[in-house]
Amino acid sequence: MIRFYNTMSRRIEEFKPLVAGQVGMYNCGPTVYGYTHIGNLRTFMFEDLLRRTLKHFGYKVTQVMNITDIDDKTIKGANEKGISLSEYTEPYTQAFFEDIGTLNIEPAEIYPRATEHIPDMVKLVERLAKAGLTYDAEDGIYFPIAKFPAYGRLSGFDISQVKVGARISQDEYDKEDARDFALWKKESPNEPAWDAPFGRGRPGWHIECSAMSMKYLGETFDIHTGGVDNIFPHHENEIAQSEGASGETFVHYWLHSEHLIVEGQRMAKSLGNFYILRQLLDKGHHPMAIRYLLLSTHYRKRLNFTFEGLEGAKTSVRRMQDLKLRLGDVAQAGVKKDMAGPLPAVLQAQTEKFNSALADDLSISPALAAVFEVVRVANISLEEASLSSTEAQEALEFFSRVDKVLGVLGNEGDEGEVPEEVLELSKRRELARQEKNFTLADELRSKIEALGYEVKDTPRGSRLKRKT
Ligand code: AMP
Ligand code: ZN
Repeated sequence: MIRFYNTMSRRIEEFKPLVAGQVGMYNCGPTVYGYTHIGNLRTFMFEDLLRRTLKHFGYKVTQVMNITDIDDKTIKGANEKGISLSEYTEPYTQAFFEDIGTLNIEPAEIYPRATEHIPDMVKLVERLAKAGLTYDAEDGIYFPIAKFPAYGRLSGFDISQVKVGARISQDEYDKEDARDFALWKKESPNEPAWDAPFGRGRPGWHIECSAMSMKYLGETFDIHTGGVDNIFPHHENEIAQSEGASGETFVHYWLHSEHLIVEGQRMAKSLGNFYILRQLLDKGHHPMAIRYLLLSTHYRKRLNFTFEGLEGAKTSVRRMQDLKLRLGDVAQAGVKKDMAGPLPAVLQAQTEKFNSALADDLSISPALAAVFEVVRVANISLEEASLSSTEAQEALEFFSRVDKVLGVLGNEGDEGEVPEEVLELSKRRELARQEKNFTLADELRSKIEALGYEVKDTPRGSRLKRKT
């Protein structure tokens, strides 16, 4: 049984999908007006962990993550640069795909772009109009929140406190500003516009996610996620729009990840602690260390990003990777033992702990503790040379299973990603060693290291490993 904290009910609930064995999940994706920052990535990593965990427990997942390529921020950015909206957003969209690839985030099944779904949004506004849930104002078509009695349920505020008829046209605003919001913004100078029966214009941000999620997942689906900043107004407004049009429950489980902060402070450009992934990579930080760091704090706790923490993450990943290599050597060496060591029993017990932790609202700390208990016991067995090849193989299978969820160890085929130049240097180094020219071998090792790889000499020849 899997359980998740549902923001809607404010409690942990048993997860029961609409269709047995299948999950439909929608994640609010990036607004492509800049490069993905580590706060966004914290949320995308949470969604990746959720996806991988559901798959680990045998569910078939259909994940939809939108690309917000039209909203107040993207339009402003394009206008400031004096280029078209798509010229402005496309490079950031591509950068987003590269960045999530770098962090080994599994791709979603569908990445709908808002600008390619305008007709779906227009249709949804028309449905709302038929249901009496729109009104026409000077600058747009608005949703009258007073006519939707459930408004405020997700974010938890009293709608009777809201001033009836007050409007807000911006996409983003605070709870204190809860007002009728724009579904459609009428054409204005320097903004892209599309034809619609209710007048030329462009969609508000909130209608985008309602239209795209229902198009691909149906009017009711299982899971909807985002960062906590999405709860109000974005998700509150999505519920009003979707349920207002369909009369059905929009989403069964609302999951939200807490924010990432940097060295204890809000991440902001003005504070000089604003990091995009690319900056961290340029500083030489390894993607898998970043992935591990973003993953290792429970998603409903604030994540305090520190460089010290990143070092710690690097060490943790390296411990697992090193162990995997050593286990690989023993597994292939044909070591037989008469007496069974402690490892098989530990593997079984820790597998159960790992699974039950993840099933309990993605409790990552006890899940990682289970993995590191295996690391500890396996290392002792290796030190004592008491491990048989069969046991080593079983341990490798454990790491392969848990890494389908954690995604930090890389696949067996990773060697194939080593650049030609590094492979060539490594071959020359092997030859130099065979000829006992150790000075040359050391020089070649330095060159390989300068290219970001480590060489390990094992009984079965040298191994290359990307530095973490
Ligand atoms: P945006 O590109 O601003 O639309 O955000 C994309 C996703 O990142 C949304 O789910 C946001 O809630 C999330 N997000 C934005 N800032 C942070 C942060 N500092 N920490 C965690 N998640 C964030
Ligand atoms: Zn959204």
